[in-house]
Amino acid sequence: LAQLYGPLNNLGYIYRSVNQSLVDTEKLLQLLNEPTEVNDKPNAPDLIVSNGEIEFENVSFTYDGRQAALKGVSFKVPKGGAVALVGESGAGKSTILRLLYRFYDLKDGEGRITVDGQDIRDVTQESLRKAIGVVPQDSVLFNASIAYNIGYGKFGATQEELEEAAKAAQMHDRILTFPEGYDTKVGERGIRLSGGEKQRVAIARTLLKNPPILLLDEATSALDTSTERDIQKALQNLVQGRSSLSIAHRLSTISSADLILVLKDGHIIEQGSHKQLLELNGAFATMWADQITASEDPVDIPTKEVVE
Ligand code: ATP
Repeated sequence: LAQLYGPLNNLGYIYRSVNQSLVDTEKLLQLLNEPTEVNDKPNAPDLIVSNGEIEFENVSFTYDGRQAALKGVSFKVPKGGAVALVGESGAGKSTILRLLYRFYDLKDGEGRITVDGQDIRDVTQESLRKAIGVVPQDSVLFNASIAYNIGYGKFGATQEELEEAAKAAQMHDRILTFPEGYDTKVGERGIRLSGGEKQRVAIARTLLKNPPILLLDEATSALDTSTERDIQKALQNLVQGRSSLSIAHRLSTISSADLILVLKDGHIIEQGSHKQLLELNGAFATMWADQITASEDPVDIPTKEVVE
């Protein structure tokens, strides 16, 4: 996919929507490693988002027809609610995000996923994806100005809107240190940004896109404390007032989630608030204790700041 960015880079409006979905879905596609095969039904209507309420109703799913990736998963993301997914590798976290984004359609008997009461299989993919903002683990930037990279979240965005989004994403002050400010070229042929900075650009872009629903995949790579703090602040600004589903690797970042789902082998084995799950003293409490122990022995990780 990365090779596609170069040629598409400087083309006009017609490719902006293509670029948009390429970047939004890039991480999920990488995980998926295969093209989407979902087709809209004839004359499918557009999704109408009123509240952005998401519901998974008894969802089971298999990629290969043999092993179940999800088994009887039910949960709700209420209007503006934050739901976090945790669990070991292979538990089914990414599968939940992929299904909501409609990389696959559920078959009859595999349950139902709805947004504001509409089965997502019945509406157009385009309208569904327009309503969803994705912040992947590793955001890819175009070899273009930082303004372009933020601005294609919204066609025709003004400089004021760009700056407002960059401020909320904790990136504005950093951009002002670049030689040509918002006109500075970033990417392989310009200034190289750190992973944390790229993620904040993706957050700014998504703030401009202003979707009612968010899918977030927290970076697994360790970030230094101040970058981590900036990203958390940026994410707080982003999730505010939107329904969000996040994959969390660091349990400390989701203590304020409305609902945490603990997944194992495709099942939800525990669910509740951070406090409730600690009181339950089960799998989540064990994971929490393990992460606390690990963080008591901090490793000094150098920041990958601007290299060129
Ligand atoms: P991680 O934290 O490692 O990303 P995860 O919780 O997101 O893991 P999923 O990627 O949702 O887990 O995977 C759930 C199950 O589905 C796993 O058993 C995985 O091997 C399987 N799986 C995932 N993608 C595919 C695929 N494209 N084809 C076949 N099986 C897959």
